[in-house]
Amino acid sequence: MTSRLFPLFLDLRGRAVLVVGGGEVARRKIAALLDSDAAVQVVARALHPAVQAWVDAGRIAWRARDFADEHLDGAWLVVAATDDRAVNATVAAAAAARHLYINVVDDADLSSAQVPAVIDRSPLQIAISSGGAAPVLARQLRERIEAMLDDTLAPLAALLQRWRERIRTRLPHLPTRRRFLESLQHGAVADRLRQQRPDAAEAELARALDAADTAPRGFVSIVGAGPGDPGLVTLKAQRRLQDADVILHDRLVPRAVLALARRDAELIETGKQAGHHHTAQDAIHALMREHADAGKRVVRLKGGDPFVFGRGGEELEYLRAHGIDYEVVPGITAALACAAHAGVPLTHRDHAQSVRFVTAHCKASLDTLDWQALAQERQTLAVYMGVAGLAALRERLIAHGRAPGTPFALVENGARPDQRIVLGTLADLPARARAHAVQSPALLLLGEVAALAADLHWFGAAPLGAPQAAAPDDGAAMAHAA
Ligand code: SAH
Repeated sequence: MTSRLFPLFLDLRGRAVLVVGGGEVARRKIAALLDSDAAVQVVARALHPAVQAWVDAGRIAWRARDFADEHLDGAWLVVAATDDRAVNATVAAAAAARHLYINVVDDADLSSAQVPAVIDRSPLQIAISSGGAAPVLARQLRERIEAMLDDTLAPLAALLQRWRERIRTRLPHLPTRRRFLESLQHGAVADRLRQQRPDAAEAELARALDAADTAPRGFVSIVGAGPGDPGLVTLKAQRRLQDADVILHDRLVPRAVLALARRDAELIETGKQAGHHHTAQDAIHALMREHADAGKRVVRLKGGDPFVFGRGGEELEYLRAHGIDYEVVPGITAALACAAHAGVPLTHRDHAQSVRFVTAHCKASLDTLDWQALAQERQTLAVYMGVAGLAALRERLIAHGRAPGTPFALVENGARPDQRIVLGTLADLPARARAHAVQSPALLLLGEVAALAADLHWFGAAPLGAPQAAAPDDGAAMAHAA
């Protein structure tokens, strides 16, 4: 990943900011600086009339000179806004020599500080940056957010700022306070503000604060994160991630999904190495309880769906046993996501009348399966598994009568940008997985429908072993797909 800019809001009240240049571009920057009550000093030979007016009114200081190094004395920040790139570069170099941040207007290369596109609902401000890569995109985004933001936001923020101490005193417990603050955005306080009745809004706020529930109440949402594509996170799951104080997530949940969480939510990865299942699960239970008891909103975020090979059931039993409130938000399980993104319909009128979700993570789970039933024809198996179990799976299915020519699609990193699909037939399943070094997470789709991936795939890299790309030893797969 390339480095990114560090976002920051500056308090410039009374602080000297040097602006080099006095034209229209400088005028716009100075106007914004004056909005922040900066002590602006302009260096320029000539001034735009509006800038001249600020000088005349004593709002900014002016040196009618060319830029010289000593003009940087005392400055906290520098803005170069001349139309001469050589001058701007000189100023930039001089500022850098003194470790001063400089914004060169419309020149990301020369700038060590960039000015974002801003949506201003002071005291609430939203700043957008594309790191200089796509200012147009940032501006478009700003317009969309502008249109989206309710105009009660600014007065609400101002009201809450005035009431901050009183709210803190009454609701010292952070999650409880947060719940209260969030409840204000929809309700009588916001309604009064919308009616332009600030005094009535303030009275409503006083009433709401009086009536606020001060008792910390923990809550656990067991949430399915889907297969890893943030687009496949449900709206409800996204809201829970936005509301959470603490997120306990599996290792498998990728950053792109965690990025949907509230910025100041505490993220805790719950490691669950194979072989240590029991202790890891106990630790997860203890974490849920600890944070719920502290009155926090806990999201237990699990890959796929929590109730499909996710131990969500055990977690619910634990929460019930300890009297902790909970809910479950389903997610798109790997079988559905992989099938969709491989072009393998799990059922099909011509090929499969039923589908089974099976886990084969270890030998013990293989032994408990009903192989007779699994080996039936015209049925799709969606096997959640470690790749190591493929040979045993093949043996038992064939031993119980599944045809060696039954097609499979093995989907690695399903629904993610690096998805790979390996196609073949049951007879050579372990060999093909090995040949392509298939890694976890991978899901096996086995059954007549799997052959359809060769034609119907649409996402990511072309399937390996599809008929058109088949090597000579792929005869079985070709014959079946045909
Ligand atoms: N609760 C999860 C499953 C947990 S078991 C769900 O509903 O999806 C973990 C197994 O799920 C992995 O070993 C793998 O077989 C499968 N899996 C999860 N994500 C996957 C993905 N993106 N692609 C392929 N298989 C995946």
